Amino acid sequence: MRFVAKETVLNLPLVNRGDSKGTHLVKVGEALFGSKEIVLVSGPCAVESAEQVKLIAELALRTGTKVIRGGIFKPRTSPYAFQGLGHKAVDILRKAADEVNLPIVSEVMDSSHVDEYESIIDMLQVGSRNMHNFSLLKRVGKSNRPVLLKRGMSATLEELLSAAEYIMNEGNDQVVLCERGIRTFNDFSRNTFDLTIIPKIKQLSILPIIADPSHGTGDREMVIPVTRGAIAAGADGVIVEVQYDPDKAISDSSQTIKPEQLIELVEDIRKIAPAVNRVFR
Ligand code: PEP
Ligand code: MN
Repeated sequence: MRFVAKETVLNLPLVNRGDSKGTHLVKVGEALFGSKEIVLVSGPCAVESAEQVKLIAELALRTGTKVIRGGIFKPRTSPYAFQGLGHKAVDILRKAADEVNLPIVSEVMDSSHVDEYESIIDMLQVGSRNMHNFSLLKRVGKSNRPVLLKRGMSATLEELLSAAEYIMNEGNDQVVLCERGIRTFNDFSRNTFDLTIIPKIKQLSILPIIADPSHGTGDREMVIPVTRGAIAAGADGVIVEVQYDPDKAISDSSQTIKPEQLIELVEDIRKIAPAVNRVFR
């Protein structure tokens, strides 16, 4: 196995840090990923109903969330599991977000989704299962929408950065990386949130990186502590799943936090940010 040491110059000219000092800035609405500001992204795993998203959008506004998340199409392990509301969900999410004047991020699972929805979705998410889908990477690379690229569940750092390079190579340099946990032998969490990739990305790449402690742990009680660690380690933001009645969530119920936990998480980010020369507004 090849160990990517600090000195290693990856043959990825667009994502490589080289001699540059700062992080590349990615703008989504008022959010500026890669700036001094910690960006919070929150919302349900999946869009389930208009009422659900309306409440969450109001919560988002109150908590300093800068981008609302919500799955329209859900990549599920079982073909019989809830696959997302699809087209109907796009309208629901857009309307609720417009009411609070916030942008949305949502996963596109193939190029046809990009064709159909890039005019509506402010930030296109490429999910963990699609990080190696090169035709999708090239397609979002041709879009003028910023991209949230999640780490494949067994992807190395070099594979993650290569996926980002695919996108940038098509002309789209608005890419934010996301650590969402990897598969290991541990049997107490859904994935192993890899804290170490955050400082490593900062050493090697100009791209911002945010943390997903929801998929990274699979456990709502671990979301706050892992968020604290990620911010302290230098993450540019956090994406979390939240719902008013998480036990009733159709997907990812066990990792979905309650509104009061989101408020606590925000208080913690506010406290930790100054220690690492960041701010949360
Ligand atoms: C998601 O964020 O909705 C999601 C499915 O995450 P991941 O691709 O990281 O599993
Ligand atoms: Mn989820």
